[in-house]
Amino acid sequence: MAHNNSPAKNKCSFCGLNGSKLELLIVGIDACICSGCAEQIYRSLNGMDEYEESAGRKPLPPPAPLKSIPKPGKIKAFLDQYVIGQDEAKKYLAVAVYNHYKRIDQPANDDVEFEKSNIIMVGETGTGKTLLARSIAKMLQVPFAIVDATVLTEAGYVGEDVESVLSRLLQAANYNVKSAERGIVFIDELDKIARKGDNPSITRDVSGEGVQQGLLKLLEGSLVNVPPKGGRKHPDQQYVVVNTKNILFICGGAFTGIEKLIARRMNTGTLGYRADKEKVSFDKNNLLQYVAPGDLKSFGLIPEIIGRLPVLTYLLPLNKEALRRIVSEPKNAIIKQYIRMFEMDGIKLEFEESVLDYIVEKAVEFKLGARGLRSIFETVMVDAMFESPSKNKKELKITLEYAKERVERFNKPHVA
Ligand code: ADP
Repeated sequence: MAHNNSPAKNKCSFCGLNGSKLELLIVGIDACICSGCAEQIYRSLNGMDEYEESAGRKPLPPPAPLKSIPKPGKIKAFLDQYVIGQDEAKKYLAVAVYNHYKRIDQPANDDVEFEKSNIIMVGETGTGKTLLARSIAKMLQVPFAIVDATVLTEAGYVGEDVESVLSRLLQAANYNVKSAERGIVFIDELDKIARKGDNPSITRDVSGEGVQQGLLKLLEGSLVNVPPKGGRKHPDQQYVVVNTKNILFICGGAFTGIEKLIARRMNTGTLGYRADKEKVSFDKNNLLQYVAPGDLKSFGLIPEIIGRLPVLTYLLPLNKEALRRIVSEPKNAIIKQYIRMFEMDGIKLEFEESVLDYIVEKAVEFKLGARGLRSIFETVMVDAMFESPSKNKKELKITLEYAKERVERFNKPHVA
């Protein structure tokens, strides 16, 4: 080790800093490294722990390895507690997640190397894509980040670099790189970065293809320089190196209009992977269930991206029965939330069954889907939530008459 006045070698071989600007220079056999570069390497190797500690935040301990990988059946049963219906998507997700964590635990010397099982879910907005991804992360107790693909743009445009996807995951992992490297990222609205041209309905395209190219390297598994605070990269920034090899990417999108592409393909006889040319009868009302990789390509995803998302599944629109179950069945169903909130004020809240049916009918009538249920409930409940805490009543029953009066008074609830 020598100080910066070392006669021959007084320049950092990494950043080129020399002379009086050097604080400390470590001299090796063929190269020198300054204390600044050494520190940056240390941080990259150890995550942001020290950096974060110096900023007063306590990093999380490294994640305890899963004792055993939950079997697909168990994963699905867990999802059933939170998500109504969507059995096909649950099954695909359960298998993909099971295989993903098997792959992580695979011994390094195994000569059969498992490929990543990143997932893409196609389905209307508000059908449970995010909820599924969030529930999976909850079960596995791994860091989870949701990113909207629409904020990502190619370098040079206003927006965020694709690496910011990993910044979110780092934040969710409290800057513990090792923990983030086993996490799950949900990239929403992937359809919005479809290439323009193949699909005339896409109007906004700050080079969708460029963003797709950028995402490729994240999806396939590589070492990525991540700006810890996200946003745009700039020269003076410190980066954290994140290996995306074991990060599971789940993508979602509504792919509005893809049914037409599916129908066109099916009418011309190429039914997904099927080789037989026989005419097969299909359910014209739910074409999404026949979605195949080729349809995503016709929609404007580049083949390389499709190749990195080998697990393709779909979510069906939620019908009245599904909405009715969503109101009361999931572990954190809307009515359970209200009941608990009132309970905290010492009030026993009850809903007449007909109120729940009525709210579901209104959600269907206003075409608001599952997201709308919540806003209709708010319309019904706001007065009660305002007045009840200051009253001395210990019980409150929401009747159909009461609910109708409120919904009709406000005419139309707004969507959250
Ligand atoms: P998407 O990601 O498909 O747009 P979300 O998962 O964000 O939709 O769903 C919005 C909200 O609607 C969820 O937070 C949840 O309350 C409710 N919801 C949607 N689909 C379901 C479902 N299948 N089961 C239970 N709740 C659902």
